[in-house]
Amino acid sequence: MRISKTGSGNPKVAFVACVHGDEKIGEKAIEKLKNIRLAGGTLFFVLANEKAAQENKRFTESDLNRVFPGNPEGDHEEKLAHQLLHELRQADVVIDIHSTEADTEDFIILTKKEQFRIAEKVPIEKCVFMEKSIAKGKALIDHVNLGISIEFNKDRGDVSGILRQILINLGMVKGRKRIASQVGYSVYGIIEKKDYSGLLVNFRETEINGELFFPLFYGSKNYENVACLKARRVR
Ligand SMILES: [Zn+2]
Repeated sequence: MRISKTGSGNPKVAFVACVHGDEKIGEKAIEKLKNIRLAGGTLFFVLANEKAAQENKRFTESDLNRVFPGNPEGDHEEKLAHQLLHELRQADVVIDIHSTEADTEDFIILTKKEQFRIAEKVPIEKCVFMEKSIAKGKALIDHVNLGISIEFNKDRGDVSGILRQILINLGMVKGRKRIASQVGYSVYGIIEKKDYSGLLVNFRETEINGELFFPLFYGSKNYENVACLKARRVR
């Protein structure tokens, strides 16, 4: 774990990169924002799983984003989860930055209704709520004051402009506020892995066995035996 900060006072916002060590998009964006001039508030830059990032792996022993609140006596990621929460207790808002190899538009992930308060500050159109049956309560954003995850397409390139716009929308950086008109989805189930090639396109409504749904994370290799998640439109 590596943490640096800039600014002072409230609000206190943390950008967290590399909760999954091989997802470097956040690390690169944070590097670009290191010298950002804040009009107010405190900004923390957190590189979460440094060890996995150095080894270019998702994790070393356990998937970090499935072991919160962690365990000080546990394996590498369980200890790290515990330490991260200790550090992030001081942040009012946590923006957890991920990337996926799935062919998809960028989207925001939430697990609690109150997180919409921060999601609406993010200039990304798609907002995905994980229902209780899917979110197991062990992700980073389940354990911080107010957190969201952003899932960027890994081919997205530089996302520092989007992170900067979040800070503008929060009033921490000077600039023109720009809010996206957002579309909400709620993830309620999974589709098991079979040969659905050509049939599933992320965020394109599909029918399988008489059921209409929006596929999500289709093409991700991180879900064993799962072809995709199933979502419905919520707003
Ligand atoms: Zn991730």
